[in-house]
Amino acid sequence: MVSIDQESISARLVRSGLRSTPQREVVYRFLLSERTHPTADELFTRVKTELPGISLATVYNCLEALVSSGLVKQVNLERGPSRYCPNLHEHAHLHDEATGQVSDVNLPAALIDQLRALLPESQRDAVIELNFHLPRHSPAQTAAGA
Ligand SMILES: [Zn+2]
Repeated sequence: MVSIDQESISARLVRSGLRSTPQREVVYRFLLSERTHPTADELFTRVKTELPGISLATVYNCLEALVSSGLVKQVNLERGPSRYCPNLHEHAHLHDEATGQVSDVNLPAALIDQLRALLPESQRDAVIELNFHLPRHSPAQTAAGA
């Protein structure tokens, strides 16, 4: 895993128009280094180990700032709380309901073009949100006896 130094974190925040605060830096660094699409609660638990005084409300405020500045995407799956993703490339998410894990699925540029071509020309800059769900008891797993 690439180590992310403190300076590049605060530089990225500033470049995106955000004031760099210790709270924002820690929240953003956890998101960049873990890539597990954590919820705000999960982030709060992790961030607390480094900034014991931080509140859940502050974590939410940091996430809101990161999302509105475009550094982080908010991922909403059909059930459950929002998750957060620092991967800004167009990609899909695979949600494994049995483990609760959410992982990135890269989308080839040609496929993105094909998807956009489904829309009227004036609407092709729409954001693509594509989620795959692996059900808890999928027919394939049952057939395999898993
Ligand atoms: Zn993602």
